[in-house]
Amino acid sequence: TAFDLVPFIEEIIDEMQGYIKVGQQIHYRHEGQPSIVTLDKQLLKNIVLNLLSNASKYSAEGKEIMITTQVDAQQAMVQVQDQGIGIPEADQAHLFTPFFRAHNAVNYEGTGLGLNIVKRYVDIMNGTLTYTSQQNEGTTFTVQFHKTPSL
Ligand code: ATP
Ligand code: MG
Repeated sequence: TAFDLVPFIEEIIDEMQGYIKVGQQIHYRHEGQPSIVTLDKQLLKNIVLNLLSNASKYSAEGKEIMITTQVDAQQAMVQVQDQGIGIPEADQAHLFTPFFRAHNAVNYEGTGLGLNIVKRYVDIMNGTLTYTSQQNEGTTFTVQFHKTPSL
């Protein structure tokens, strides 16, 4: 069923507040006008929670996390951007492999399953998952869906 993406994302951010590090802030911006989408809420929530929890975990205290959404006639986009440790270039190709963890992540707790789940959910939703990352600079994950999936 159709719903407004903006309050949906705001609610997820509210839920995340208790789990982010000291001084970290999640900034949310919705670009443009339309914000009604028809997407699987359960899957989408899982995707956003996973990306936000990574953004927080792999960023230091006090760092900002940015989430941006955009909806146009065809597409819905959700982007999570952090200023964290980044992903070494050599590790980037393996990100969606179960249990894979980048070399600079060894001091952070994790099993390496989150992104594999995200990738599976995005696939189920017929979307695309892309990223850009620079070590010691930050990481951006972008998820793109058809606004109204044809079943
Ligand atoms: P969990 O299963 O608890 O999510 P995890 O966070 O280690 O464990 P993934 O979420 O699958 O596993 O991420 C896989 C690896 O990708 C991480 O171990 C880390 O090396 C890297 N990674 C993912 N997101 C980020 C990010 N935002 N910044 C830097 N590295 C990241
Ligand atoms: Mg994770």
